[in-house]
This record gives sequence, structure tokens and C-alpha cells, in this order.
Amino acid sequence: MVDQLDMAIQEAGSNPGKAPADLGPRVSLTGLDRSELDAELVNLGIAPKQLRMRRNQIWNWIYVKGALDFDEMTDISKAARSQLASRCAIERPEITTEQISTDGTRKWLLRLRQQATDKKAPEVECVYIPEIDRGTLCISSQVGCTLNCSFCHTGTQRLVRNLTAEEIVAQVLVARDQLHDWPGQEPLNDRRLIPEGPRKITNIVLMGMGEPLYNFDNVRKAIEIISDNEGISLSKRRITLSTSGIVSQIGRWGDEAGTMLAISLHATRDDLRNELVPINTKWPIKELLDACRNYPGLSNARRITFEYVMLKGVNDSLSDARELVRLLAGIPAKINLIPFNPWPGTRYECSDWEQIEKFAAIVNRAGYASPVRTPRGRDIFAACGQLKSDSERLAARARAVAE
Ligand code: SAH
Ligand code: SF4
Repeated sequence: MVDQLDMAIQEAGSNPGKAPADLGPRVSLTGLDRSELDAELVNLGIAPKQLRMRRNQIWNWIYVKGALDFDEMTDISKAARSQLASRCAIERPEITTEQISTDGTRKWLLRLRQQATDKKAPEVECVYIPEIDRGTLCISSQVGCTLNCSFCHTGTQRLVRNLTAEEIVAQVLVARDQLHDWPGQEPLNDRRLIPEGPRKITNIVLMGMGEPLYNFDNVRKAIEIISDNEGISLSKRRITLSTSGIVSQIGRWGDEAGTMLAISLHATRDDLRNELVPINTKWPIKELLDACRNYPGLSNARRITFEYVMLKGVNDSLSDARELVRLLAGIPAKINLIPFNPWPGTRYECSDWEQIEKFAAIVNRAGYASPVRTPRGRDIFAACGQLKSDSERLAARARAVAE
């Protein structure tokens, strides 16, 4: 069943590069890889002799300089620029809401361009989490999710569709626009926390809406663009894909994309994990951990992060902590304890803080450092894994206030 769904989703979402409906004959250049960009330029009549140079110029303007318009591309002749503008576009999704937390966390709700198969323009969110020495952008890979993890609000929503590579890359471009993270831009005039280094986005996590390994091709293509050395140039060591445990795709992801990996483990026994992360009935813990042991490039310097959501009275006993440490022995691992973020209608509660501390102490004693993920952006409901759901709730509340 899941495999059938998997196939359907991959087919449905794998046509980036095709002219989007409301651009008419214009083709969006963001999200095209180099060979697709070449093909567009050939269509446009760019001479073969100039192809490489033009492609590199455009690539540089879009991904290094953050150009929003062909007119900015001053090293390209005016004639070529107007030719480009007549047939192509550099588009960003529209920001429908921006929320900034008191702790500096920012959340953007983005309205995507409506595709022929969409009933309405879908919306996704991305979240920026600043720290002194780094800035992490949490991006989405699907609108909704086919899986239904019982503690995750995204899991209560049906899958609307896969994001295209363009829509995944665009989350990074929009965030860089908003953070003034392009070279030569005036720094953001905001006293809230922002990292001090030259780059405001230093890390990317695929921990927003959706299961990224069920949108494999588009996510991989987006990651290739984001990590391209002559473009946005974010190292794959700073990009982490989080999966609920799609074992059939984990090794392939390591071979073909090679980013850091995070696993939503959340339980140490199959009976409980079947309930919390139902894909476990297809790929149980042992198979999942075997896939982790074989993850290409795994080493002590390149560890897998195991995420463990703290659910009161469900998975938070001290024997669970000991079992967790036992299970992961021998795998180069980090452990991330995530305080559960409750949502209306959920049957779960977050573990008590003392219990989280006792649990963490056992994990710490086994040699895993600072494992509790501090909740960020709570005032704007920005926790990874429950993004859009909260905006819908906020929007409903805002409507209720306005009515
Ligand atoms: N689908 C992927 C990535 C998106 S979810 C996955 O499941 O890994 C990102 C992380 O947020 C996962 O570890 C998920 O288990 C966690 N998460 C989901 N809902 C949550 C909630 N309400 N509170 C805390 N963490 C949650
Ligand atoms: Fe989907 Fe991840 Fe939520 Fe599970 S935790 S329902 S896989 S988004």
C-alpha cells in the first residue's frame, strides 16, 4: 500500500521545469539543474558558443547574488535580458504571513503557485532558528504527509502533494531575502537574535512538513542546487534530512545525496513504535537500525541524529532511556530529545521536565552530549514537525477575532 502510494507521489511531483500554469509560456528558472537550465537557454536561441557562459552568469545571479529580476543581471546584454524576461521568470512564492518570535525565531507561510492539479494554491511553512554561531532553516518537502504518526499534527492532514524542486529551493531563497542574507545587503535592522557570522543561514534541516524520502527525486535535486559550490554553496554536512524511517530509501539517499541523516526513532520497542510511527509495521526497528549502520559515509565525525520525542508516561521511563542507549551502541550517533509540542485534540502530553532531565542524564552518562532540544519559537508555534497546522489554527483564530 505504502509502496503504491510512494510511486504515485513520485510520479505526481516529478515534473519541475515544465512551464507552471499561471506563468503562461514563461518558464521559471529557479529549481532547474544546470542541464535543464542549458536546455531552456537553447530553446531561447542562445548560441552554443555562449551557452556555458550565460548559464554560469544566470546561475550566479540567482543563487549567489539573489537576483529577483533579469534587469539586475548587468553583465548580460540588454537584448539578451529582455529575451530572457519575455520567456523566463525568476519567481519567489508569496509570503502570506511572517511571524517573529521574541527569541528571534521566524516563521513564514508561503503560498505556492497553483498547479493544474491543485484545487487551490497550497501553502507551506518554513522556520528560521537563529543561534549565536549558526542559523538553521527548517524546510518542508510535501504539503501534508501520507504517514500518520500519532503524535504529529501534520500526520492528521492528508497529503496534498509533493513540493517541486523549485518550491523546495525557493524556501531557502525567500528566507535569505527576508534575512538580508545576500552578499552586499544592508544587515537586517532588528535587535532580535541573529548569528554574527557572514551567513545568516548556515544549516538546513528537512524537518518541516512531509516525509522527504517519499519525495526523493525533487528533494535530491533541490539539495544538489542548494549545496552547489558555485551557488548557495551550503555544505552537505550542514544539511540534515529527517526521516520517519523509509528503510528502502535510506541507503540510496546516502549514496545519491549524502547529506547528514536524522531518524525519528521515538520508541525502543516495536509494539510502541508501531503505534507512534506506524511505518514501523513495514520497517521495524531492527531493519531501520541496520540501514543506519550501513549509511554511506557514517563515522564518528559524521553521526546520525536520533530524534526522540518525550511523551509523558508513553516512552519516557528510565528503562526506555537505558534501552535507547543499548539499542544505539555501536552506531555513531547523536541523540536529540524533543519536548513534545502539544496540539488541540492530541492524546499525548509532554513529559515533565524532571523526567526529561533524568532521562537525559542516563543518555549523557552513556556519552551523548547535551541531548535536549530547547523549544524555540513557542510563541509563534514554530516547532518543527507541526508547522502549517498551527498557522491554520492561528488563521482560524485571527478570522474569529476579525468576525
Ligand atoms: N517526516 C519527517 C520529517 C518531518 S517531522 C520525520 O518524521 O522525520 C520532523 C520531526 O518533528 C520528527 O522527528 C517528528 O517526529 C517531530 N515531531 C512531529 N510532531 C511533533 C510534535 N508535536 N512535537 C515534537 N516533535 C514533533
Ligand atoms: Fe509525516 Fe514526519 Fe509527521 Fe510522521 S512525523 S506524520 S512522517 S511529518
